[in-house]
Amino acid sequence: MSTQLLHKASIGIIGGSGLYSMPGFAAQEEVTIETHFGAPSDAYIVGELEGKTVAFLARHGRGHRISPSELNFRANIYGMKLLGVERILSLSAVGSLKEEHRPTDFVIPDQFFDRTRGRVSTFFSGGVVAHISFADPICPQLAAEVARVSGSLGVNAKKGGVYLCMEGPAFSTRAESNVYRSWGMDVIGMTNLQEAKLAREAEICYVTIAMVTDYDCWHEGHDAVTVDEIVRVLHQNAGNACKVVRETVAAMPAERTCKCGSALRHAILTDRASIPSEARERLRPILGKYLGG
Ligand SMILES: [Zn+2]
Repeated sequence: MSTQLLHKASIGIIGGSGLYSMPGFAAQEEVTIETHFGAPSDAYIVGELEGKTVAFLARHGRGHRISPSELNFRANIYGMKLLGVERILSLSAVGSLKEEHRPTDFVIPDQFFDRTRGRVSTFFSGGVVAHISFADPICPQLAAEVARVSGSLGVNAKKGGVYLCMEGPAFSTRAESNVYRSWGMDVIGMTNLQEAKLAREAEICYVTIAMVTDYDCWHEGHDAVTVDEIVRVLHQNAGNACKVVRETVAAMPAERTCKCGSALRHAILTDRASIPSEARERLRPILGKYLGG
């Protein structure tokens, strides 16, 4: 089980496996990684996109085998870290909790609200404690880039908003959906909060591109949606996702101007001399620079 950084990709993309066939992506390698936290959802598909090295990961595994509650979020993000990824673009389908967020719109949230239960969402346990700041969970630089690119492509993408992360896999009751609306939540999904938290712990920039597929069950039109309509929305979202990812990768500035890359600088509470050697080894890709190698 390696903890050596591989320097294979600078940008990570988490989403559906449909992204692998994105125009302009030249897949070069399938990289299977086994981590101290277990296996990621699938092999990483590494290659070049717009002259940059990128690593794709099918969040639920190819064939969509893994439910949100079963995802090994730590392994997925740790694998990205090992590959050398500094920025993650995360795509996911969401339900809309506001009339203004229509199916086929994209929302680029700036906040999360956690309604999951008991998911493991930290790298720091087993002898080392760190408390990262998570007040602003999304990388501001990446969010600005995605919003700008989306606008230039004519994709209706709204910047800002709250992504409510629910446990699933069943959708909300109507009572729950209405409560979330009364709280001012914007979209509802099942996966992105843990990814964002672990990415911050790993000092990786993270942005969510939430693709609205439908209104959640609160909406009076919810039950009237036809299969044809659902297929049309999914198709349009997939096409826009490919365009936005490709152009965002192309436009990505080389330098990070955000604070994500130093999130751990003042976060590690454990006395360095007290950190067990096993924990040092397990977290070396993440903590190495603070522990002297
Ligand atoms: Zn950042």
